[in-house]
Amino acid sequence: LFISYAQNERVRAISHVAASLVHEVRNPLTAVKGFLTLIRDGVTDRGRIERYIEICMSEIARTEYILSEYLAISKPIGDKQEPTDLEELLRITKDVMSPYANMHNVLLEISHPPETVWILANPDKMKQVLVNFIKNAVEACAEVSHARGKVTLRLQIAARKVTLTIQDNGIGMTEEQAKRLGSVYFSTKSSGTGLGMTFSYQAILSFGGTVNVQSEPGAGTKFTIQLPIYTRDVEEAREAVEA
Ligand code: ADP
Ligand code: MG
Repeated sequence: LFISYAQNERVRAISHVAASLVHEVRNPLTAVKGFLTLIRDGVTDRGRIERYIEICMSEIARTEYILSEYLAISKPIGDKQEPTDLEELLRITKDVMSPYANMHNVLLEISHPPETVWILANPDKMKQVLVNFIKNAVEACAEVSHARGKVTLRLQIAARKVTLTIQDNGIGMTEEQAKRLGSVYFSTKSSGTGLGMTFSYQAILSFGGTVNVQSEPGAGTKFTIQLPIYTRDVEEAREAVEA
């Protein structure tokens, strides 16, 4: 139910974006058309023509950017789970979230053992989960005025389980707040949605995992996510059950 809630919300957000997209794309088109008209109708000054062309090029680049951003967010996330390389997801997450951390003057550290570890998950959802936790951690740091916010993501591998910890030295949570994590629309942010954690908790559950949180107001928060490691044996056991 929560997942479908989150997905409905996502569809709504996407359709809002689509509506605004029409304007976003029409404006640069109008500008380009205007400048081409001026050139066609006889502007001969070399410098002016070059300036018009520069403006047209940057308007077109902006349009391309807007369209590719839209395609990226509107790509539907399926439900299919597959063996997923967690280390690769961590690498992608770091690339995606480092600019956001930098923007908030937060140091983002992601460390993991060199070996590959597989989980059975939906890779797009798992990526979104990592992004959600790191985004919140960065935002929690940004709410505190300290020399430097710090977010650390660690991956530890044990016999059957992989443990991911996401720790920040941000604003922290009261016990009351921590208890409400993962329930729909719980947010302490003015423009928050409360859907990030809802989606993430449900996704982790659906991968057979667990989430725990330790938090202290003013000191920071540590999330611990445990997920079963994927091995051939697990698959064989599943197939045996399904047969
Ligand atoms: P949003 O970020 O839009 O508020 P989320 O579902 O991502 O929604 O998070 C819900 C709430 O959980 C946040 O508003 C915040 O109060 C709390 N929270 C989540 N992660 C952290 C964190 N690392 N530190 C402090 N509070 C957090
Ligand atoms: Mg969030």
